[in-house]
Amino acid sequence: MSLKSNMVPNLFGSMVFNDQVMRERLPKETYRALKKTIENGKSLDKTIAHVVANAMKDWAVEKGVTHFTHWFQPMTGITAEKHDSFISPTGDGGIIMEFSGKELVKGEPDASSFPSGGLRATFEARGYTAWDPSSYAFIKDDTLCIPTVFCSYSGEALDKKTPLLRSMEAINKQALRILKLFGNEEVKRVTTTVGPEQEYFLIDRKLYEQREDLVLCGRTLFGAKPPKGQELEDHYFGAIKPRVSAYMKELDQELWKLGVLAKTKHNEVAPAQHELAPIFTNTNLATDHNQLTMEMMKKVAKRHGLACLLHEKPFEGVNGSGKHNNWSISTDTGVNLLEPGESPSENAQFLLFLSAVIKAVDEYQDLLRISVASAANDHRLGANEAPPAIVSMFLGDELTGILEAIENDVEYNQRNKEEMRVGVHILPRFPKDTTDRNRTSPFAFTGNKFEFRMLGSKFSIAGPNIILNTIVAEELSQFADQLEQSQDFQQDLHDLIRGTIARHKRIIFNGNNYSNEWVEEAKTRGLLNLKTTADALPHFIHQKNIDLFTKHKIFTSAEMYSRYEIQLEDYCKSLNIEALTMIDMVNKDILPAVNRYLNDLTVTALNKKSLCTSIDCSMEQSLIRELSTLSADLFQKIRELAQAIRAGKEDPQVLEQAHYYRDVILPLMDQVRQPADQLESLTGDGYWPYPTYRELLFLV
Ligand code: ADP
Ligand code: MG
Repeated sequence: MSLKSNMVPNLFGSMVFNDQVMRERLPKETYRALKKTIENGKSLDKTIAHVVANAMKDWAVEKGVTHFTHWFQPMTGITAEKHDSFISPTGDGGIIMEFSGKELVKGEPDASSFPSGGLRATFEARGYTAWDPSSYAFIKDDTLCIPTVFCSYSGEALDKKTPLLRSMEAINKQALRILKLFGNEEVKRVTTTVGPEQEYFLIDRKLYEQREDLVLCGRTLFGAKPPKGQELEDHYFGAIKPRVSAYMKELDQELWKLGVLAKTKHNEVAPAQHELAPIFTNTNLATDHNQLTMEMMKKVAKRHGLACLLHEKPFEGVNGSGKHNNWSISTDTGVNLLEPGESPSENAQFLLFLSAVIKAVDEYQDLLRISVASAANDHRLGANEAPPAIVSMFLGDELTGILEAIENDVEYNQRNKEEMRVGVHILPRFPKDTTDRNRTSPFAFTGNKFEFRMLGSKFSIAGPNIILNTIVAEELSQFADQLEQSQDFQQDLHDLIRGTIARHKRIIFNGNNYSNEWVEEAKTRGLLNLKTTADALPHFIHQKNIDLFTKHKIFTSAEMYSRYEIQLEDYCKSLNIEALTMIDMVNKDILPAVNRYLNDLTVTALNKKSLCTSIDCSMEQSLIRELSTLSADLFQKIRELAQAIRAGKEDPQVLEQAHYYRDVILPLMDQVRQPADQLESLTGDGYWPYPTYRELLFLV
């Protein structure tokens, strides 16, 4: 299917009930009232809701839509929907297509089967979804999707969207206080913006379906290294193969229809790995769009006979997939607050926002780490490819030099050697640092935004952005508390920035984050190194974090405990499924396959001997010996793993369970894999029950 380029503007957003459609289809007053609701974040008036619902339905029905759904983001990390048709009986045996304001505004899915971490006792299983008008309705699969938040009847958030919206509100409020101090009165709203770069693997679907581990766990649990991996680095930005290119074209089109600003696509470092990046937008919409992007990636792959893997580490020994969360703060007047400005005063404001981010990242390293924690992402973080599990930030030499000069109250040597004493009020205009390309940093300043690189590829970006927005809101509120009392603004501003740099510069690291020296140095700097999810999660409910979230009304402490439990349970469950899948694969496929090969070898050797006793059978004999030893070892390890899983079930404490999975089950899984992979490399291809890494990675 080829698309003429002049069609793209018409295609773009054609499935979205966006501002343009609203303006065309809603009566003027309704449109204005709705806009106001969206801008002020107020709830929607009933009569307006009814008019909007009707217009939405007419628009959708013209496009062949029969159903609607409240589309929400429960704590499973994926989206949920329950479809209802528009039909309504007329009483004479006929029907009309109807969609009421009530149906638009509120839905009641049976909430009892979504994870809630004990927030909803089962007798109060009800939760409701409520339209979030700040995100546009759209059509997917002939269904009108209404983006909604998901709450319990007592008001607790049961989803990822509610706290995200709350965190955007928090940073808006605090940033406005700061802007006011700089005499910035015309700004009415501050929002955070995000552009998430999404990595993924594409493999042949037939091969994918033959692997139980890929189908059930999203990653390979076995697989001997192929003769060629990614060592030649010949895939990165390489020419895109026709089959992949056709896939990417269709994906772009599907995303454009949904109003997703899909912009950049290229091959990544690992074979069969690719990336898609959209143009940034506000964090709320970016979150919806990233969920849609991941969903479309899988769906379109299926149409092309491919499987899209979003797992963080589908193949051992090959780079995993991440997601880069490019994040900034913008005003409704179009100013990027993380962009160094033209004038000294703009730069002082920039430096204050920068200081807030530096302080936030240092004081809440634990929360940032937790926001990217999962059993799957543990395979990436700290392995020599992704950023390490240690949170630090990269600012580049130029900016670091400026901060050092401020801290030491000395002159800053600009590149052109023009000397200036640096006070924030006479800060020189500084050039964007072009030397910046530190790809090993977990949190890098890239000129006018921060790139948080620790996210796993299949993460919802809601979690990390809830944390980012909230921790920066907190620092801005502390700064505002102080500066609002100031008698000498310039001096106090200077002292505040200087003091913040001095106290929090330990978090700044411009060197190689993958090196062992950094691990040592980070320790002496007192930075956290939370290697696994089980290590990281308990920090979530530390008092300082409960204080933070309750102060800004992002989470109640009950909501925090529930989220903590859900994440721990998720960690244990994922590992449990993987361990059980391993056992199944070994017992049902791998050992029988090796035995078939062993049997053929034995028969061959015996036949040879019966032909003539002097024929050399040493090859068969030593192979038989080696295969037998390895399969006995594998069998033993599998029994140990199965026993350990049974034993682990007894601990009722979920944190203890998580530790058990980390300390006992994971190492046993590694031990199972070793003999299995050795067996794979010794067993004839025709016998091995699964497609190999070579086939999976190089055959598309
Ligand atoms: P680079 O190549 O330096 O990483 P790009 O301009 O290609 O930078 O941006 C990478 C991603 O960052 C894109 O998704 C882009 O839309 C996003 N981005 C750019 N500016 C901002 C911003 N102000 N806020 C959030 N994301 C941004
Ligand atoms: Mg980038």
